[in-house]
Amino acid sequence: MVATALAAAPALAAMRVVATTTDLAALVAVIGGDLVTVESIVPAGADPEAFEPRPGDLGKLRRAGLLVRVGLGYDYWLDALVNQTGEQRLMRGGEATLDASAGIPLLEIRGQSIINEGGHAHGMANPHYWLDPENAIIVTAGIAEALVRIAPGHRDRILANREGFLSQLETRRTLWSRTLAPFAGTKLIAYHNSWPYFARRFRLNVIAFIEPKTGVAPSPAHLVQLISEGRRAQVRAILHEPFDPEDASRFVAQKLGVPLVRLAISVGSLEGTNDYLALFDYNVATLAKALGARSP
Ligand SMILES: [Zn+2]
Repeated sequence: MVATALAAAPALAAMRVVATTTDLAALVAVIGGDLVTVESIVPAGADPEAFEPRPGDLGKLRRAGLLVRVGLGYDYWLDALVNQTGEQRLMRGGEATLDASAGIPLLEIRGQSIINEGGHAHGMANPHYWLDPENAIIVTAGIAEALVRIAPGHRDRILANREGFLSQLETRRTLWSRTLAPFAGTKLIAYHNSWPYFARRFRLNVIAFIEPKTGVAPSPAHLVQLISEGRRAQVRAILHEPFDPEDASRFVAQKLGVPLVRLAISVGSLEGTNDYLALFDYNVATLAKALGARSP
């Protein structure tokens, strides 16, 4: 009379995870390991701000065992897409969905949430939180919890994957901080307001933005003002996202006599940024090189 029939662990191997961005997909891949297949909706290298879902994305969602989103209005287009599937489990608060921003200490919080103003609008807070590597601790905790909820039989493996990742992250964070330490307090101008989390972690100071508003090209008057502000503040580099128009950034960089530094805001948006740790390896090394070249 011994109960021998152990409940077979659910076949997580068959579990498909869909993440809105490549950053979240990369973190899911690390935590799920070979237990999951994961794909992103916004392709690597595309501008997540200007993204519009394509017909195939609906099918992708329907097949998802778990849906992971950035939240905070960044992937505002997802709600309409999820509604089209008619699947409760994928809707906000549904058992197969995870908002990765839960628990993140947010920056640039506003009193009011303005989500759908046609483009990711930084409505309730700045949404670029994955660019602080320390926030990956919180994001991966959420991912691990969601995966374990769906496949409790694989709990140990999922938690071990996360431990392995956290230990790598810790080593690299020390290295990144050391690399950027000489540039603490350095003033920068960025094309888009992508960097508050990154800048706070590495003690950089982004003082102004080339685009006056997401997706809006700067006017000549705005550029003139930026250049004089940049001179006054002794800005030392212009940060630029690869998919944004480059003319204005190049112009400001030339006028200030500082380097134009192309950094990746997402995994896969530049060569050499194919996973989450590589994204920081690349950005930290590229920025340090650009700033170091101008050090006395
Ligand atoms: Zn943004």
